[in-house]
Amino acid sequence: MDMYEISAIDAYINRAFRVIIILPLTGATTSAFVFTFFKLAGWWPMVPVIPLVIYDIVNLFYLCFAIYLLKTSLDENGIIKPQRILLSKLYVGFLVFAQWNYITYLITDREWWAYIFFFIALTIVFFDIKFTSIISFALIVSTIISWFINGEYHFLSLNDPLFWPTFILRLFCIVLSTATLLFITYFGGKYLVEELEKHINYDTLTHLLNRRTMNIYLNEALEDAHKNHSTFCLMMIDIDDFKHVNDTYGHECGDEVLQYVAHTISTGVKKDDYVFRWGGEEILVLLKTDIEKAKAAAERIRNDIAKDPIFYKNNISVYVTVTIGISSYTSSTSINQMMEDADHKLYHGKQNGKNQVVI
Ligand code: GH3
Ligand code: MG
Ligand code: MG
Repeated sequence: MDMYEISAIDAYINRAFRVIIILPLTGATTSAFVFTFFKLAGWWPMVPVIPLVIYDIVNLFYLCFAIYLLKTSLDENGIIKPQRILLSKLYVGFLVFAQWNYITYLITDREWWAYIFFFIALTIVFFDIKFTSIISFALIVSTIISWFINGEYHFLSLNDPLFWPTFILRLFCIVLSTATLLFITYFGGKYLVEELEKHINYDTLTHLLNRRTMNIYLNEALEDAHKNHSTFCLMMIDIDDFKHVNDTYGHECGDEVLQYVAHTISTGVKKDDYVFRWGGEEILVLLKTDIEKAKAAAERIRNDIAKDPIFYKNNISVYVTVTIGISSYTSSTSINQMMEDADHKLYHGKQNGKNQVVI
């Protein structure tokens, strides 16, 4: 089974994928239908036949491409393939830009400019500020040029005394509304997604990185070590007699102890080391350093945890200790082997009296 590590924004696009593809398509095919109907009814005699036929054919192409995207973008687990997210963006971007220029230059009408917001809005669904900015800029420039080229058809004659005031007022409306749309895209994309990412990557009790994220970082560290001939260590930490803490003081106290231990470990390692909640009360640390420095860090952490009691509900003092097993990278080991090795050393420490570091 081929699983991708997808970001929160990808997960959202995954859910909204059909709507993202169908929405612009519906706009395009509806306009093709309406334009053709207007022409046949004789309401739009000035619209030339050949461009209109080409327009309808291009819309047929959009329809086919949308069906292709919808049929082929999801894998057997119902997850969108990452490269298809890019292709969908290109599809929507092309459709919006081509469609806009088409109606602006070939099917001229004074009302078009107000539709620009609808066109920009179709790109916001991706929450990609760069993408929406580029499309918005292109649409606005093309619109302004058309006001001069198409003259009174599209706007007002340059000789009209209202030309410049109307021009400036329209421009104001477009710039202010577009800025608002970009603002939504940016903050929706940045903060909303960052918040979501946190929920995906972090454990809620200890605020440590969770197991899902751990696999990504471990594999990255392995690749990095291969490429740069650098090294790294894994530290497996398990609280001693934790069942006893739970049984004696209750589960809530156990949770607090766990939070305290997690906090002590997080503050006891360097900024570029990563701390993960690996299991219930087992914590894994990835250190981008050699075994000697990892051992020193482990001893420091073990000491910090053991030296003072934790005050539960302000009056119950609970002493906890941890046992730590450390494994280090060699060019022939896999992550699984390193984990097993650290776990084995941890077990060894547990057998030999706990509250110790084993390398
Ligand atoms: P040892 O010294 O051999 O490690 O003994 P231990 O009692 O710590 O044994 P073990 O590591 O197997 O204990 C795991 C216990 O941790 C079992 C479970 O009740 C407790 N535990 C796991 N996750 C949590 C949690 O999130 N909160 C609390 N309060 N307890 C947890
Ligand atoms: Mg355990
Ligand atoms: Mg334990």
